[in-house]
Amino acid sequence: MSTDEAGRLFHFTRLPRPVVDRAGGVYLWDKSGKRYIDGSSGAVNVNIGHGNRAVIDAMKRQMDRVSFAYTIHFQNEPANELADQLASRLPRGMDRIYFVSGGSEAVEAAIKLARQWAVATAQPTRWKIIGRMPSYHGITIGALEPTGDDVLTRVFEPMSRPMPLIPAPTVHRDHDDLSLEERGLHYADMLEAKILQEGADSVLAFIMEPIGGAATAALVPPDSYFPRIREICDRHGILLIHDEVMTGVGRTGKFLGGDHWTCRPDIVVLSKGLSSGYAPLGAIAASEAIVGPVVAMGGFLHGHTYGGNPVSCAAGVAVLQEVDRLGLIANAATMGEVLKDELAALSRRFPFVGDIRGKGLLVGAEIYADPEARRPLPREAVANVRLIDLAFERGLIIYSRRVRGGPESDNFMVCPPLIVTRAEIGEIIATLGDTLEAFAR
Ligand code: PMP
Repeated sequence: MSTDEAGRLFHFTRLPRPVVDRAGGVYLWDKSGKRYIDGSSGAVNVNIGHGNRAVIDAMKRQMDRVSFAYTIHFQNEPANELADQLASRLPRGMDRIYFVSGGSEAVEAAIKLARQWAVATAQPTRWKIIGRMPSYHGITIGALEPTGDDVLTRVFEPMSRPMPLIPAPTVHRDHDDLSLEERGLHYADMLEAKILQEGADSVLAFIMEPIGGAATAALVPPDSYFPRIREICDRHGILLIHDEVMTGVGRTGKFLGGDHWTCRPDIVVLSKGLSSGYAPLGAIAASEAIVGPVVAMGGFLHGHTYGGNPVSCAAGVAVLQEVDRLGLIANAATMGEVLKDELAALSRRFPFVGDIRGKGLLVGAEIYADPEARRPLPREAVANVRLIDLAFERGLIIYSRRVRGGPESDNFMVCPPLIVTRAEIGEIIATLGDTLEAFAR
């Protein structure tokens, strides 16, 4: 397959891809019988692995009882149960949960909740959402607004009225003159500069992925970053939204990516791992301090037909049970370290791969044009697309956005399901080694 074909992200035609036949654990098979090891957990969402019996049975049982009941007419037990289960795992007090069907929808809901909170608390001038460059928050018009990726957003401006952006702490690239902790503070302080530049009373919220995912391949901010970000948001009365769509539900070795630091967000956004790919599901969570005023002004002016539907929520409840029963959060932490060590060994063999980073099983790396100088590839490069194609041919799926010349078109992630074993990591690494041999040729 040529990279041109591979680069057609928005396709209305059939991509030249094999047809999937079946899946189980960390493996998928296509119709020809070829087996693939899933080093990308689908779209970094199949956290509990493929073909989990408990989840499938829970969904079947729910479908036998009631597949759909409109939330305007009825509560349903799985949605109530999932809300309770989530509240017990989220930072204390984040117990007002709202369900949608996916990540972009959840980001939109978070933005609308923030805006309605501002209006309900007599702060109608606040509307701007500051995001980071590079970042990814979703593909719908509203979720694109704070997404720092000009390849995805440019065509849609001014419809996707771009919001102010600050740099993400791209610690592997910039400011070698500063220590890591100084860099964290430096990048956080850019938020304050941007708030003041925009006019503090026009800014509503700051949205960030605690550990950058799709756009930056598992970039972990320095420890100094989060406390300073919280301090700045508090000083200016701005809501902090953590987009945990990719990092949530154990992926990084804690329930939330943000749990690695003591920085409490105002709104948490979840999706992907919440249903682990078994059903479309997303959620936002906030405290009574945010939701109370919105309810008091007549309720959240939002709603989706499938939001809180019983089958998706039954999948969510069963996924959380499986995460606990199988000890997947601890496994993500342990196996993540094994994976990073193995990747570091590969990077010694193939020096153009470097900056192995991440937490838990959200692990990323760079492909350098010049490893000595750590010089990145030119922006129009598609090295990562070539790499994932070579891996795919060899039966290994790794994660990268297939966008030509995106902000970081030279990185990739290895993020298998949280059930992955040492032996399966060995298989991923062996195949990646073969892939890098071919890539270097
Ligand atoms: N936010 C983040 C952090 C994501 O990684 C993604 C998906 N990659 C989204 C939002 C959008 O989710 P979805 O594709 O389900 O709309």
